[in-house]
Amino acid sequence: MIDTNSKIFVAGHRGLAGSAIVRELQRKGYTNIILRTRQELDLLNQEQVANFFQEEKPHYVVLAAAKVGGIQANNDFPADFIFENLSLQVNVINEAHKAGVQNLLFLGSNCIYPKYCPQPIKEEYLLTGALEPTNEPYAIAKIAGVKMCDSYRRQYGRNYFSVMPINLYGPNDHYDLANNHVLPALIKKAHDAKINNHPTYEVWGTGTPMREFMYIDDLANACVFLMESDVSEPLINIGSGSDITIRELATIVAEVIGFEGQIVFDPSKPDGTPRKLLDASKLESMGWKPRISLEEGIMKTYVSTPFYKQS
Ligand code: GDP
Repeated sequence: MIDTNSKIFVAGHRGLAGSAIVRELQRKGYTNIILRTRQELDLLNQEQVANFFQEEKPHYVVLAAAKVGGIQANNDFPADFIFENLSLQVNVINEAHKAGVQNLLFLGSNCIYPKYCPQPIKEEYLLTGALEPTNEPYAIAKIAGVKMCDSYRRQYGRNYFSVMPINLYGPNDHYDLANNHVLPALIKKAHDAKINNHPTYEVWGTGTPMREFMYIDDLANACVFLMESDVSEPLINIGSGSDITIRELATIVAEVIGFEGQIVFDPSKPDGTPRKLLDASKLESMGWKPRISLEEGIMKTYVSTPFYKQS
């Protein structure tokens, strides 16, 4: 539980999720938010993290810092994904605990669930099957983070819990095509095709995988809602309840951006998990629902991109 004077440390405040959580906290009148850039505090450096927590002793920690990337980046840099995520989680969670921090929200990811999971995916399906190989190292690190929070909760009575968001998108995303997730990639590709009068824009895979998307402000709203609630669960899914195919997504992106050419698929690129719809009934039963539609969210994202003004 928090109030507007609580000292809240948001780790990863320049990223997609962290920046949105900071905006949401500010919007709701929180005044004591602690932020550190990577230059000021290297979360991979245990000594720096220990000193930081001993000095600041925040009331609440939001662990939104992570090394993230899309299907291709996860394939190309598996060592970086597992090492950096494990290290920063171990440092932040354990040093927060040692400094007496009682509350911590850890941002997980929907890729931690088994590849062939019954749909919609309930929280208790964690660790019931093999993971998707393309992002297994990243997922293993995130699962370790979830289990670490739960363990500190059980052994020390800490209020440390994890949220599992679906595919997130919004301002402050990356637009380097080799490393990003599908939505920023499609926005950039459709935009480039439009301004270059190119007849096609290319989408990876077969177009048949299904994904669920959430605009980042909805995610931030859900996180702050949970921070303000009494959470007694180790793990909570944050989802919208409905998913679409990548083909449908590509069509919506083209419509929002105004690209009128043809969408072509490249089946030589990986599809990844066929489907990962989360069961968000736990969160819904607490009284929370997303508000921003996919079309509206894509438009808000598009107008915030650095390349929008060229169109
Ligand atoms: P995932 O949700 O962890 O699989 O990660 P992504 O967001 O990278 O990919 C989601 C789906 O979108 C996969 O089926 C990809 O093959 C598909 N996809 C289609 N076009 C693209 C693209 O240009 N970039 C990425 N990253 N994925 C794409």
